[in-house]
Amino acid sequence: MLESDHALYSEHQNSLWFETASALEPGAVLDSDFDVDAVVIGAGFTGLRAALRLAEAGTRVVVIDAFDVGWGASGRSGGQVNPMLPFNTPDQIRKLVGPGFFESLTQVSLNSADELFELIKTYKIDCQPRQNGWLRVDHCDKARRVSRSNAEIWNRLGADMQAVEGDEVRRLSGSAIYRSGIVVPKGGSVQPLSLARGLARAARDAGAEIYSRSPVSALHRNGAKWLVETVRAKVTTDWVILATNGYSDELFSGLAKSILPLVPIQIATAPLKPEQIAEILPHGHTISDTRRIIMYARRERDDRMVFGGHGHLDKNNQAAGFDWLVHDVTRIFPQLEGVDWRYRWGGKIALTEDRLPHFHEPKPGLIAGLGYNGRGVAMSHVMGKWLAERALGAQPESLPFPTTSIKAMSFRGIQMMGESSAIRWMRLLDKLESK
Ligand SMILES: Cc1cc2nc3c(=O)[nH]c(=O)nc-3n(C[C@H](O)[C@H](O)[C@H](O)COP(=O)(O)OP(=O)(O)OC[C@H]3O[C@@H](n4cnc5c(N)ncnc54)[C@H](O)[C@@H]3O)c2cc1C
Repeated sequence: MLESDHALYSEHQNSLWFETASALEPGAVLDSDFDVDAVVIGAGFTGLRAALRLAEAGTRVVVIDAFDVGWGASGRSGGQVNPMLPFNTPDQIRKLVGPGFFESLTQVSLNSADELFELIKTYKIDCQPRQNGWLRVDHCDKARRVSRSNAEIWNRLGADMQAVEGDEVRRLSGSAIYRSGIVVPKGGSVQPLSLARGLARAARDAGAEIYSRSPVSALHRNGAKWLVETVRAKVTTDWVILATNGYSDELFSGLAKSILPLVPIQIATAPLKPEQIAEILPHGHTISDTRRIIMYARRERDDRMVFGGHGHLDKNNQAAGFDWLVHDVTRIFPQLEGVDWRYRWGGKIALTEDRLPHFHEPKPGLIAGLGYNGRGVAMSHVMGKWLAERALGAQPESLPFPTTSIKAMSFRGIQMMGESSAIRWMRLLDKLESK
């Protein structure tokens, strides 16, 4: 947990999700020493899903978060449940992980939305789940060609993606600027902070203990066990599960450097007038576009709009880029000119060099799962479940993810320094291609 993360904390308070989430009794501060079977560090989707599975298997498990349940990306996200790995084409994924893991990784990814909606049903989690489909719109002809050829391959693997063109894509999106896209029927959305809190409730009911405001400051090997230290307590455990994603620090050497933390941002309106919103996403699809500096959005039941895009940290370590997002959104949906953008917030995600989620087991009894590259709402649950299975004894080769070593990302420092210039450059490329 970095000092700068405290600055981002205040922005959580300006989030629509924070204002409207179902309540959860906060976790206590960890202040006594004890012995458990597993410690999960991080109370986001990854950590909570792992804890739920472990607790249900009869394991004594504690979850420890530096702040609170859903405080990280999980409770701040766009809440879009997208069953598709980002960035790589199917051929690239096959090359990166080999044919065996290609099969298992793509299957768990394509099933990830169905699995999450099923989980929500099973545990009766009150988080506004909707599975109305995800509309992925193309920003240029080249993007259209790539999306079409990838969709054909994903469809052979069971994705059921449908191409849409012309008036149909304009009708489904409510924007006149898109000419083509793909509908992914299994996609949908959730209120993400309510989901995190509901998952925490389910994990507690199954016997997991959840501690808040307890940053883990050190991990030591203690014979065959691990010692997990916070300022006030020491917990001895057989397994440590690191579920810290974009908030990873130097707690375990090298983990933070294996990812590039990026800062997506979100804006949301007050409820809008029927004439402002009538045409936008009339069938309740979620939407995202294919640009490098992506726009993604959803329409809420109470006729609010929620938009997301790329941001960056300003010199005070606050999320920035909101004005550009408002400008971009009103260019795409001119109906929204002058509306009240009441909510603005951001958070940190983890980008990996190969753009795939990473499963690591750097030491016996210590495992980590992270790096969803901005598509973690569904995928983090898959990872969390498999982290738990590994701690319960599943062999690494039976997991859908290859177990990889922790490697520093190339040119990470330069990429972090140059983030806002890189964003400007990518916006320009997007604009030139969209003409
Ligand atoms: C603004 C935004 C929009 C997004 N939109 C989408 C979307 O629409 N769809 C999608 O699929 N994905 C989206 N994502 C990505 C998605 O939210 C993440 O991939 C996912 O939530 C990661 O979950 P996680 O549990 O691994 O990590 P997080 O939810 O980030 O949780 C990590 C936790 O670790 C804790 N922690 C860190 N260090 C320590 C320590 N030393 N001790 C104790 N605790 C520690 C943190 O406090 C934090 O709570 C978005 C992310 C953001 C920020």
